[in-house]
Amino acid sequence: LLNVKHVSKKFEHAEKSGIRPVLTDINLAVKPGQFISIIGPSGVGKSTLLRMMAGISRPSTGTIDFAGRQIVKPSQRISMVFQNFALFPWLTVQKNIAFGLENSRKRNQGQIQQKVRDLINLIGLKGLEAAYPYELSGGMKQRVGFARALAVDPELLLLDEPFSALDVLTGEQLSSDLMTLWRQGDLNMKALVMITHNISEAVRLSNVIYVMNGSPGTLVRVYRLKTPVEQRTASQIMRKTLE
Ligand code: ATP
Ligand code: MG
Repeated sequence: LLNVKHVSKKFEHAEKSGIRPVLTDINLAVKPGQFISIIGPSGVGKSTLLRMMAGISRPSTGTIDFAGRQIVKPSQRISMVFQNFALFPWLTVQKNIAFGLENSRKRNQGQIQQKVRDLINLIGLKGLEAAYPYELSGGMKQRVGFARALAVDPELLLLDEPFSALDVLTGEQLSSDLMTLWRQGDLNMKALVMITHNISEAVRLSNVIYVMNGSPGTLVRVYRLKTPVEQRTASQIMRKTLE
């Protein structure tokens, strides 16, 4: 579905007139049915990698292909959920969710309204249609973040620490709701890639885990988790890798 090949990323520092390599030689394939987690220390370049997968930023070298074509700009086939929710404060819940659909040539107003109503029910936001983000709890804000990302029926969903701003119980509730939707196959989604600092969360939710480390950052390990034993071993090794 998505192929990252020999990707590196450098940033230019305007003040210091230097170039800083942030990522080097990243290789990763996202296949249909996979829920991939990427874990690694702060500053290693995880968000930078995810932004390139979303088409928001471009690799310095290497390529990222989606469904066989190089990603050169953001598209509705890939959407993203952010750590800090990134909702539009001046828009209601309903308008936030509809945002990505407003310029859609595929749907008319009636269809957009219907899609938003369906998502509001699916994601558990009933009764909050007319509320503004500041009126919502963190958990509800992130539900809106998920609903907005899912509104365009993405084939790939990218999650940048989506639960880390929430308390543990709220985060677990929301992530298990997401897993239910994903497993039921109600969504058009074929795969997910999530960044997290939380090893148990990664083990609970995903079937493939990449560990990123180094400076510049690169993927140093991959775990494919099929059985509980593999899951336990992986979390022990990962804790050591990251210590
Ligand atoms: P965290 O776990 O704290 O979110 P991260 O692994 O997501 O960290 P990134 O946000 O990808 O890390 O940042 C990696 C490095 O790249 C950091 O040193 C950051 O300062 C630098 N960086 C990120 N974006 C830019 C940019 N637009 N311009 C310059 N430097 C950047
Ligand atoms: Mg980050």
